[in-house]
Amino acid sequence: MTSTTNGAGKANGRAGSPVAVTLGKKPSAGSFAGGGGGGVAPGAGKTACIRTFGCQMNVHDSDRMRRMIRDAGYAEVERYEDADVVVLNTCYVRENAVDRVRGHLGELSRLKKEGRVKKVALTGCVGAAKESSELRNTYGIDLVLGTHNTYELAEFVGLPGMEETYTPDLPGTEGDHQAFVTIMTGCNYQCSYCIVPTVRGRMSCRPMESVVDEVRRLVGSGTRYVTLLGQTVDAWREKEGARRFCDLLARVADEAPRVWFTTSHPSNMEDRTLKLIGEKETIVGRLHLPVQSGSDRMLRAMHRGYKSDRYRRKIEVFREAVPDGTLSTDIIVGHPGETEADHEETLRLVEDCAFDSAYVFKFSPRKGTEGARLASEVAVPDDIAQKRFLEVLRAVEGSAFRRNRAKIGGVEEIYVRHGRTGDGRAIGETWSGHAVHVPTGARPGEYVTARIEGAGPHVLYAGEPVS
Ligand code: SF4
Repeated sequence: MTSTTNGAGKANGRAGSPVAVTLGKKPSAGSFAGGGGGGVAPGAGKTACIRTFGCQMNVHDSDRMRRMIRDAGYAEVERYEDADVVVLNTCYVRENAVDRVRGHLGELSRLKKEGRVKKVALTGCVGAAKESSELRNTYGIDLVLGTHNTYELAEFVGLPGMEETYTPDLPGTEGDHQAFVTIMTGCNYQCSYCIVPTVRGRMSCRPMESVVDEVRRLVGSGTRYVTLLGQTVDAWREKEGARRFCDLLARVADEAPRVWFTTSHPSNMEDRTLKLIGEKETIVGRLHLPVQSGSDRMLRAMHRGYKSDRYRRKIEVFREAVPDGTLSTDIIVGHPGETEADHEETLRLVEDCAFDSAYVFKFSPRKGTEGARLASEVAVPDDIAQKRFLEVLRAVEGSAFRRNRAKIGGVEEIYVRHGRTGDGRAIGETWSGHAVHVPTGARPGEYVTARIEGAGPHVLYAGEPVS
């Protein structure tokens, strides 16, 4: 068996998979000299632990904070009890998010009393929420940062203070085989159930040249897979100028050997972007396009800004442009006011779109959202929401399993995302975006070619690589 490092492009394969969100991605080495100059780095001889919750935006923010910690000379550790400094980078999307964070803060305040942990920073969406001042007082947190001032961590770990320019320009971690590049932050929508516009603010787009420069720098330092990130990534547009997300994606696809993007909004998704996915050799053929419901009545109540047929038409364009591509979505069941007829519409849409995977959620009210107010008036009983949840999940798994089985017998070029695990298999991704388990010792970032021998609803199984 041999493995390649560059990949031959999707003309020779195709695929993609639901990308497992890597929480708290760890660097390869434990200790980092840094801080520049010849003096002793402020964190030399000290340790730090970063714990990440939530979405890929948070994973990326943690990556940038990790860079500051490295530059300050800290060694990264995995356990709280081994750390001088702990950074909790939090998510506010689920209702129990704050309770979950409380659990961690309680443990950290005990470790502080015992003199093991010295300082604790709370960052991310919970840091931006109004509960943060109460948390700071209750647990004696040393630093609380929201999502737009993570640069302040620099001073906290002993580096010179940074001027805020545009947060995503803060340096990320270079040299890894895959990297996230934030192209926009915030969101201009007001979906009934979502707290993001409150905690992340309105949309702010990064200039194209800044994005392209970062991608070039990452690729130059060994990155082989670039994921463009944004809450509504396809809403990216030039501040002054006519260029849209499709133009940026095309530029990045010319610079990087492998490219993906998330998360998209159906109202922003242009047909030419969908066609570009099929045309460009370097773009993974996977589309994540959250639909949330198949009922127009519910889409209106959620303020999604499109109807189900418009969504279906987008999917038709995608399927035609990328026939072997993978399609994933998000679906919320049990939104306040959802009737059995609305639910039936969702099941019909799931059947029509034949998703390859979906994140299905039971509605969970977020304080401060319209959905929470509606839930106090027209909540869907939990047993009904649970039944609908299982029905949607089974429908998605049925179509995913059928589509995955159709891949058996094909030979695929597979990008190794995670190296060999205990069972001897690495986890990779085809150019079509399917997740594949493959028996290989190839390292993350390398390609192998193998025949697909089996399939489950969530993953493909490849045989020994043929090259
Ligand atoms: S598009 Fe809707 S769900 Fe997505 S981040 Fe914006 S408000 Fe939230």
